[in-house]
Amino acid sequence: MRWDGFVGNESAKAQLGAAVDSGRLPHALLIEGPRGSGKRTLARLFAKAAVCTAQGQIPCGVCAQCRKADTGHPDITELTGDGSAKSLSVAVIRELREQTAVVPNEATHKVAILADADCMNVQAQNALLKILEEPPPYMLFVLTVQSRTQLLTTVQSRCVCVSLLGVSEQEALSVLSPRFPSLTTEDLAMRIRLFSGCIGAVADSVEEDSFAGTVERIRRIGEALTAVNELELMRATAPLEKDKPLTDAVLGGLRLVLRDALALAAGGQVTVSVAPAEAKRLADSFTQRRLHETLAVLDELIVSRKRNMNQTLLITLLCARLRAATGR
Ligand SMILES: [Zn+2]
Repeated sequence: MRWDGFVGNESAKAQLGAAVDSGRLPHALLIEGPRGSGKRTLARLFAKAAVCTAQGQIPCGVCAQCRKADTGHPDITELTGDGSAKSLSVAVIRELREQTAVVPNEATHKVAILADADCMNVQAQNALLKILEEPPPYMLFVLTVQSRTQLLTTVQSRCVCVSLLGVSEQEALSVLSPRFPSLTTEDLAMRIRLFSGCIGAVADSVEEDSFAGTVERIRRIGEALTAVNELELMRATAPLEKDKPLTDAVLGGLRLVLRDALALAAGGQVTVSVAPAEAKRLADSFTQRRLHETLAVLDELIVSRKRNMNQTLLITLLCARLRAATGR
């Protein structure tokens, strides 16, 4: 398999590449990974490989089928959840089921990509399961989710699962520097650290111009952690409640600030922080034991967020547990 521009994630590539190279395309592929880790890009690359007519390494990128895959291929369908159960409802899945009964237009395979498939409720997942249990031989499904635990185990067990993670700073820079030539390497590197090497999340932060707002939110929460009044932390975290991408970025960023605070408390230096002044404030305000506890709490909350915990509950826990860990 050819990986044009898809950097890093070597074990996922080895796993999927072996299946594609041997001609045994999985009928149901489940791609899991954090926001911006390349799930959609990989799903599209796989779909392209499935329709490519070239001999040898696929997708070749130049055959008529590959070119159509880039602009809209009649045998590739992409459905995207928008965070609501309505977007990938049981009605949508039933309609998809009808479409899958129709043989491909021009390629040997038909591919249905269900992006952000964690939007599916139990009913919709069970409808999908019916198709996955007896798919037409030409039909391939690709599901993308932040965490496979969002899907019923019966659905998971029908899928070949590939996990993506953020990539190294160098790998991310090799993609992002040519794409955003106006940004300095230092600026990009800081963003890459904040988004844990998830290239898509960095690109979004540049395109949506949301980086300054994210850093400001991290700064405000870092500051509020040392406040005596708990209202400060509630105010500082309030904007997260309706914004999951911001929550991901802020939790990841706070983690970096806490790690820097621990380094400072141990006599070291700030290495990765997006908010060095707040790292210093935390190091001056808390013992190393408290900082370790706070970091552990944050890690647990990051796992809960990945499992798509109810957002209001998550923010409530964030405030309560961080206050308890810091001893405030
Ligand atoms: Zn091709």
